[in-house]
Amino acid sequence: MNFAPAYGKICRMGQELRCEEAERLIPHFLKDELQTKTMEAFLRHIEGCPACREELSIQYLVAEGLSRLEEGETFDFNAGLSRKLEGAGRRVRFHRRAQIAALLLELLIVLGLAGVIVRLFVFS
Ligand SMILES: [Zn+2]
Repeated sequence: MNFAPAYGKICRMGQELRCEEAERLIPHFLKDELQTKTMEAFLRHIEGCPACREELSIQYLVAEGLSRLEEGETFDFNAGLSRKLEGAGRRVRFHRRAQIAALLLELLIVLGLAGVIVRLFVFS
């Protein structure tokens, strides 16, 4: 019996996103369709997994590169993909900061309300 995985790629980043999942997300990533949480897991996987990074490069080249070449533009493929990955990372970081800010705001509101209640009931 052969228990080797059918997709033949070895990947040690199995904890969060498996390679098949990451590969399935690549077209969605290229079309900017990923939710922030998925995007975060995807980026983490791509950073640590050369096999999926290569797959991403290939699909990116097919999706972006060919259409640009058809339009006769010169296309710096590596810069293009790096920019896309950087942009996605920035979006993930921004979203996380926004979440923290929202939490802090909520906390302030709760504290503010608590202050009002204390003043109303304790000091009146
Ligand atoms: Zn992988």
